[in-house]
Amino acid sequence: METAKNNLREPIVCVLGHVDHGKTTLLDDIRGTTVAKKESGGITQKIGATDINKNLLEKIVKNTFRNVSIKIPGLLFIDTPGHVAFSNMRARGGALADIAILVIDINEGLMPQTIESIDILKKFKTPFIIAANKIDLIPYFISAKNKSFYEVFKIQRPEYREELDKRIYNIINQLYVHGISSDRYDRISDFTKTFAIVPVSAKLNIGIADILMVLTGLAQKFLENEIKFSDESTRGTVIEVKKEGSLGTTLDTILYQGILARGDTIALNTANGPQTTKVKAILVNSSNKGIMEKDKVSAAAGIRILITDKLDVTPGTSIIKILDNPEQAFEELTRESKPNINVSENGVTIKAEALGSLEAVAYELDQNNIKIREASIGDITKKDIINVSTLNDPLERIIIGFNVGISPDGREAMESSDIKVITGDVIYSLIEEASKWLSDKKHELEEEKKNARPVPSKFIIMPDYIFRAAKPVIVGIRVLSGRVKVGDKLITENNKYAGTIKSLRDGDVNRQFADAGMEVSCAIDGVILNRHIFPDRPIYVDIPESVAKELKNQELSDDIKETLDEIIKIKRRENQFWGF
Ligand code: GDP
Repeated sequence: METAKNNLREPIVCVLGHVDHGKTTLLDDIRGTTVAKKESGGITQKIGATDINKNLLEKIVKNTFRNVSIKIPGLLFIDTPGHVAFSNMRARGGALADIAILVIDINEGLMPQTIESIDILKKFKTPFIIAANKIDLIPYFISAKNKSFYEVFKIQRPEYREELDKRIYNIINQLYVHGISSDRYDRISDFTKTFAIVPVSAKLNIGIADILMVLTGLAQKFLENEIKFSDESTRGTVIEVKKEGSLGTTLDTILYQGILARGDTIALNTANGPQTTKVKAILVNSSNKGIMEKDKVSAAAGIRILITDKLDVTPGTSIIKILDNPEQAFEELTRESKPNINVSENGVTIKAEALGSLEAVAYELDQNNIKIREASIGDITKKDIINVSTLNDPLERIIIGFNVGISPDGREAMESSDIKVITGDVIYSLIEEASKWLSDKKHELEEEKKNARPVPSKFIIMPDYIFRAAKPVIVGIRVLSGRVKVGDKLITENNKYAGTIKSLRDGDVNRQFADAGMEVSCAIDGVILNRHIFPDRPIYVDIPESVAKELKNQELSDDIKETLDEIIKIKRRENQFWGF
């Protein structure tokens, strides 16, 4: 929080990775609440973030790595882990975090959310290090705890080292596939080209010093511009909004630039667009004194801002301190509230709880070649359901909701409509489910189309099986070629209308079609036997010219091809260019 003489602010760090790979445990280590008591305030858990100040950073890092010189005023860790939180916390259109830790279970390797995290880190161009976690589960481990990786590695047997290396190489190879060149941090000579892998055990508090050392080194070397402290303008990102009854509204905020004081005017986004309000109080959470009020704080810091205006503040929004005219800030806030998503004329509809996650879902859909028609923030409502149910293309009749609910009237509308709604809180499962639905639907539509298209076919009425002569004609037929289907229109060998197939029956079973070689009973509508159609005379399924043209270029079985040729011949007696 205090700024060093060289005028750098604390780099903001976010932890990402697949579920259960150890993000929370690693943050617990970093938060190190038990240590904090002994260190008397060395680690302070601020609201929404944990602050490791320069003194403590020096103490932890220099214990193992004597030669590291620390220039940054500390490190500020965002308490909410995960790539969704990461993408929801924005600063000037980019990511709030300056640097990230990607946690990978060393025994499991890359998993779907690891890959989503990599995608998002790449998209925001956020530098990161890899914490290869759970090294205590590798065979031959000689137990240790609360030490640096460097110290623990020294006491391990060759068998363990070999097993550890095997797993690290596995991760290096997997990362390589995703365009990332990486290596164990102590084997890297050029940190601009190679991502550092730090082996850790979050459970046994091993490797934390190494992580802090690598983060510090990277920040000092490559982030100097990003973390320059400036009090010219004051900005933060609201990460949580709580309405506190008559007291007003509190905004848990990460302040990433400048100085904020009680009484300052700030601009922020609300449900009714950008607005200004006054800072009534600033609270910070100190480890030994609980929640404390402060007159003034400087970046970077996790703070709770109390405002008394009744505003419906949008979480994830920026706060910008206003000196005179709020116009420029309002412009920026308006820009920020619009999702940066490529929508096309056709595609799926998506909803998410916040701007960042909406963009994250859109990004993953794009990676899976799924187009988006509409993207918006908030619960799924009746309006959304109605909008989607009026779409003609069956492949667009789907809503994908990430971290959102369905409003009561939305639910009601959903029950009476036939659209697909998929909701969930894991992006890759949502995408998987949506992809499956889309491909099943596509397949279904293709099948439908195929089935609806008439097949060149020929049959005869068997003279010994006449049951009814009209309304409808009911006769036994023998299919000579192709596939005769319910709904097919028929023609005679003279191109005269020969009725429509009303139903097909094989014994007691109703059928939708009958193939070449089958003998079935058949109801034919629209004609009279022995006036329009005759036993033992060929009857053909009528083929529209467009279908005939399409079929001519396709591979067909011999009997169907022959029948198609016969039909073309029949048609050409009246129109010599038919089917060309
Ligand atoms: P998150 O979902 O990524 O936040 O993962 P958690 O931190 O909740 O950890 C998931 C599980 O893995 C918990 O049961 C942890 O105790 C366990 N775990 C985390 N780190 C380690 C580790 O270094 N070694 C072992 N053996 N277990 C770990």
